[in-house]
Amino acid sequence: MQMNKNDQTPNKNDVYPELSLNVITRQEHNISRKHISDNALKVLYRLHGAGFEAFLVGGGVRDLLLDQNPKDFDIATNATPEEIRQLFKNCRLIGRRFRLAHIMFGRDIIEVATFRGHHQETTKNVSQQSKEGMLLRDNVYGTIDEDAERRDFTINAMYYNIGDYSIHDYAGGHEDLEDRLVRLIGDPQTRYREDPVRMLRAIRFAVKLDFDIEEDTAAPIEDMSHLLQDIPAARLYEESLKMLQSGYGLETYHLMREYNLFQQLFPLIASDFTQDYSSKTEQMLDLVLDSTDIRIEQGKRINPAFMFAAMLWYPLLARADMLMAKRKLSEYDAIMEASNYILDEQVRTIAIPRRHTATIREIWQLQLRLPRRNGKRAFRLMELNKFRAGFDFLEMRGEIETGETEQLAKWWQTFQNAGREMRQAMVSDLESDTPEQGKKRRRKPYRNKKNKVSSS
Ligand code: ATP
Ligand code: MG
Repeated sequence: MQMNKNDQTPNKNDVYPELSLNVITRQEHNISRKHISDNALKVLYRLHGAGFEAFLVGGGVRDLLLDQNPKDFDIATNATPEEIRQLFKNCRLIGRRFRLAHIMFGRDIIEVATFRGHHQETTKNVSQQSKEGMLLRDNVYGTIDEDAERRDFTINAMYYNIGDYSIHDYAGGHEDLEDRLVRLIGDPQTRYREDPVRMLRAIRFAVKLDFDIEEDTAAPIEDMSHLLQDIPAARLYEESLKMLQSGYGLETYHLMREYNLFQQLFPLIASDFTQDYSSKTEQMLDLVLDSTDIRIEQGKRINPAFMFAAMLWYPLLARADMLMAKRKLSEYDAIMEASNYILDEQVRTIAIPRRHTATIREIWQLQLRLPRRNGKRAFRLMELNKFRAGFDFLEMRGEIETGETEQLAKWWQTFQNAGREMRQAMVSDLESDTPEQGKKRRRKPYRNKKNKVSSS
């Protein structure tokens, strides 16, 4: 394929086409102050009262126009971070890449950003680009039109003006909202190169809002997906939670996968992918993401560790099987060593925090312990902190593996619901089946052949 020179270095007007402002007056839209949080309103009015321009922007405006509840309310202003700080006692300046003000109201935080400008002149300490064209630092202040041009999608570049309650639509976001389209502002390739995370955001908004991704916005994604490898693992961890734990995880995973994006974030998992989505890893992904979505809908707590543990379980078993075959490790040792390998590999792309990797290991180890129920073991297992997670995990495995695993999950289900005597009887039954269990083998790693975990 021939590369046109302009493809590599588009000039300013290709990247940031002149946007034209469309003002939607108060009479012409459905956003009412009733739907904006009190804290966001306080901040908007204080800025405005001090003579600054103050707008609600981004997801807040987009979601209100769609009659949805915004996740948060972001504010944009022509006041500089220092000026913002002087207006608010409860203000903290944060961020290196983007300098932002956080106005704190207890646990509620309102984010206030100063309009950002272009970064054509590479003045070292204000704006910096990597050789891939990625923005590293970005602290040039600008006008509201420039701020609009720098936003990702047209539907995210609408500003609600607290001065007269009108909406300033710079990039045709209102029309795209009506057409239900996720469309990047400017030249898609350049915008993805500047910040590859925009590819993930395109998928996320398409699923969450049930919009289509506009053709030119969608076209370059697959070829550019590998650019995600340059993004710091900490940022990708945050993004992966937004993708998979915001209530639309299952659909988001499927769409990410179509664009070769999921594969960049989870290479170990992707190596199990099949044409017909039939591997155990793929079955597990469907199960765990579906149940996460359902829990969120029911307002239940969700734990990222549980999700990652499930997603990585069959890659873990494959690795452990390999270690048992090649190095003749016991099952226990093989799982331990494979756990280290799998987690070390995964945190290279997605920086899962240590407190979660510790839980992931616990859930995995419990899978080795749940088959061993004789004597007092079953009673003790049930008292463990992570028992519930370990059991829920076993139930999902049962659905996929059927057979012994399914039986074991059913046993535990009955055991939990049973009274004291019934529990004792269930344990005694086990002991009469396998009389020698638990006597001599105390010190050796135990291998229950019947319930042996296996990835085949
Ligand atoms: P939600 O909060 O529902 O996930 P949002 O659109 O508010 O959606 P945020 O991540 O809160 O998304 O960002 C707020 C706004 O900042 C966006 O609407 C967009 O205008 C701008 N923005 C965020 N991330 C980027 C990015 N990577 N590139 C360009 N603009 C961005
Ligand atoms: Mg937001």
